[in-house]
Amino acid sequence: MQNFSRISARMAARRNVDEVMVRAAAHARKEENFDMGIFEFTAIAGHILESSCKHPDGVEQPDCLKCKYERELKLEELPEMVFARNSLTIRFSDHGLRGYIQFNCLDALKMVCADRLPDVKVGASTAWQSTRQDRILQISEHQKPFDWTYTTHYKGTLVGLKATPTTDRIDMERLKRRDTISFSTNVILFEDELADHGIAQLSARIRVMQEGYFFVLLRFYMRVDNVLLRVCDTRIVGDLGDRHMIREWQLREAKYENLRHVHPELLLDADRAWMHLPIVEEHVERISIERPDDN
Ligand SMILES: [Zn+2]
Repeated sequence: MQNFSRISARMAARRNVDEVMVRAAAHARKEENFDMGIFEFTAIAGHILESSCKHPDGVEQPDCLKCKYERELKLEELPEMVFARNSLTIRFSDHGLRGYIQFNCLDALKMVCADRLPDVKVGASTAWQSTRQDRILQISEHQKPFDWTYTTHYKGTLVGLKATPTTDRIDMERLKRRDTISFSTNVILFEDELADHGIAQLSARIRVMQEGYFFVLLRFYMRVDNVLLRVCDTRIVGDLGDRHMIREWQLREAKYENLRHVHPELLLDADRAWMHLPIVEEHVERISIERPDDN
């Protein structure tokens, strides 16, 4: 009898904790909207993905995010922090037609290599190998290999929009001007500390200017301490006067041994480090509404 009451007290306590968690999750959700005429912006931020399902095993729960991630991703392991509820969306309308570009964690992780160890374009370094020897060994012995640096070339999910190559470029000088900001926010999508050897992080930020244009930066930043630095940036600029947006995608990386001229502290800050890394690959596209007669 005593046992039974102890168990039911424990169950009640756990139920309370669950209720508190659910309430906290609801309160943690933050949605920001901004309307700029033909462009509308929505940033959503919420709790990180739970480490386990809240429903019993074997029960289909269509709205369970944990199940959705397991179903749709082939990755052996997810990053430590997955912001499954976060997203940044830019809605665009042109003469009655509408489309949007969205930055979300699931689509970004779909582009992480799920069947090979990380690819280091600057060449395999012995430091890289020894730093991660433990991890590489663990993965090759017990797991399916995957890119544990979570490198993703994700540049946003297009719906009702099309991307075509262009020779246009983003006016970087204009972005350096001190124009008045009407709206700005940032959204983190995932983060992993690479077992204390560095960081892999994906986040998106937006700045809308009173002068009638906006700037989005989606940045993947990966640092394996004393070995390698990699930044994969997607920049999008839209102007009220244009019927399109420009998207510039750039992959930059360098080995630490080639960055000896840069102050080590700069390398810890993605916003200052990226410009010291050489461009490995880039392309520029014009994003516009997909019209029914396009095909
Ligand atoms: Zn589930």
